[in-house]
Amino acid sequence: MVELIPSPDAVMQILTRTGAFREGHFVYPNGKHSPHYFQMPLAFRYYDTARVLAVALSRKFRLEKDISSQLPKVSVISPSSGGIPVAFGVRDALNAEQIYWAEQEKGERMFRQYVNQGEVNPCIIVDDIIRSGHAIEETVDLVKSLGARVIGCGAIVRFDTAPEEVEGVPIKSLINFDVRMYESDEECTECKDGVTPETVRF
Ligand SMILES: [Zn+2]
Repeated sequence: MVELIPSPDAVMQILTRTGAFREGHFVYPNGKHSPHYFQMPLAFRYYDTARVLAVALSRKFRLEKDISSQLPKVSVISPSSGGIPVAFGVRDALNAEQIYWAEQEKGERMFRQYVNQGEVNPCIIVDDIIRSGHAIEETVDLVKSLGARVIGCGAIVRFDTAPEEVEGVPIKSLINFDVRMYESDEECTECKDGVTPETVRF
């Protein structure tokens, strides 16, 4: 069986078609301006699209000997709710044994209580999108606090502002996105061109 990974262009087409990637003039809650906006759950609300993206990412993991040799005794972990459908899809494609996710509680990222009980497997951390990399880094710390090893890390989209690896583990992605983010409206090309801005929630 030939295992194809769709090209970055093909993935961008999926994200554009589903509305998960938008071009225009966006103002973020932190006041920054940008000509692009990602809302990844829009791609994951369609089962077929979700499956294509998750299977593609899983193939990148399966190519790693340190991962393929450990399966199925592996946990797939999401840093937040946005990564949960990706984690389920990747788990399914890899036939990994466990899945769980972190959540923000009182401003702190944590797992549900008692997650450390039972078998603690080597972990693959997956998210829908990696912007700064902070969520992944915090999740790596959480995983290590359980006494587990991180053997993989990845997302559908990685901004080029994110690190290329965490703790020596390379971050896999289907897209490495060249981010354009302006600190203020004076620097923003779309403001200069008089494009009507759209305020986004996050
Ligand atoms: Zn602007």
